[in-house]
Amino acid sequence: MALIVMKFGGTSVGDIERIQNVAKRVKSEVDAGNQIAVVVSAMSGVTNQLVDYVTSVTPLYDTREYDVVVSSGEQVTSGLLALALQDLGIMARSWMGWQLPIQTDDAHGKARITGIDSEEILKRLNSGEVAVVPGFQGLSPNNRITTLGRGGSDTSAVALAAALNADRCDIYTDVDGVYTTDPRIVAKAKKLDRITFEEMLEMASLGAKVLQTRSVEVAMKHGVRLQVRSSFSDEPGTLVVNEDEIVEQELISGIAYSRDEAKITLVAVSDQPGVAALIFGPLAEAAVNVDMIVQNVSDDGKSTDMTFTVTMGDLDRALEIVKAHAKDFGYKEILSDADVAKISVIGVGMRSHAGVAQRMFQALADKGINIQVISTSEIKVND
Ligand code: ADP
Ligand code: ASP
Ligand code: MG
Repeated sequence: MALIVMKFGGTSVGDIERIQNVAKRVKSEVDAGNQIAVVVSAMSGVTNQLVDYVTSVTPLYDTREYDVVVSSGEQVTSGLLALALQDLGIMARSWMGWQLPIQTDDAHGKARITGIDSEEILKRLNSGEVAVVPGFQGLSPNNRITTLGRGGSDTSAVALAAALNADRCDIYTDVDGVYTTDPRIVAKAKKLDRITFEEMLEMASLGAKVLQTRSVEVAMKHGVRLQVRSSFSDEPGTLVVNEDEIVEQELISGIAYSRDEAKITLVAVSDQPGVAALIFGPLAEAAVNVDMIVQNVSDDGKSTDMTFTVTMGDLDRALEIVKAHAKDFGYKEILSDADVAKISVIGVGMRSHAGVAQRMFQALADKGINIQVISTSEIKVND
């Protein structure tokens, strides 16, 4: 007998028939003698619709009320799945984030889970009941509903698996595993049987939305056995494992991309200690996430050009903040470009092999793609 957390994403619970299909999958694990807690997303498209409702009332919304609205999609699918399970003769009930509770900090819209009270769920699992828990939502220290950031149901599932000390956390989605790159974009992408936590973390943070980045961090920290698989087939999925569980290390495990990028260049910033802190301090305070940063000597040789990237949604705010603080550091000109994309090559095998970056640059050159910014870490190259 194993304790398993099963998480179903938006497409997997996209309509009533699919929810009934999920109930059948859960039933087969229960029939095999396992204890099951299920985490569900909202039906696909619903969270986007809820976000649109909020922004059409007011673009500068109160994030606490945003969370009340956007967390509601998961409440609906939790109740529906509990009903579908009952219909198959399975004892099941739903638990909202606030009922357990799933405690988070108070960073509304992108809260972090700080603890899950699992006592009551464990009691119910031991008496043969299935627990259905909505993903994406939690409760702040002020007793307000929070959400965990887009794609956050993955993190709910992994955190619940850690709290329940589960044997496995299976993430059921609309592809049958983690591929070398997005299989919806590149038909010849290859499915990986295994990927290391470290590589998965890089892939997720660089744009592969198959797992939310934070879920990989939590799984890595708590040693949760994590698997990505399809809710529409019985194919084995991809296991996310420690490096020592991989026998033959591939040089490259994957390529991730993000179109959600914009580039800002401050031309001719004075080249002296403390300037970077003056530029990036106010951006950090305004919770603008700066990604790649590159500094180059300007044409005049006396000053420096500072180029950095932010998400598209943060571009206007970032420009406003930089302009407002211009008097502190001074610059000649400010340039911005939203028509850029970030491509990253990832693999722990890169640590010991030279030449990967060169092959990437050649591939981009062959397609006539101009590289604007390059950055590297031990196991990745971005441009
Ligand atoms: P869910 O609603 O189940 O959480 P998501 O849409 O969040 O599903 O994530 C699954 C999607 O992630 C896939 O449909 C696929 O297009 C995309 N994806 C991006 N990169 C990868 C990758 N390397 N491997 C698999 N899927 C990927
Ligand atoms: N429903 C939320 C979203 O669309 C959370 C999730 O699906 O993981 O972002
Ligand atoms: Mg997702």
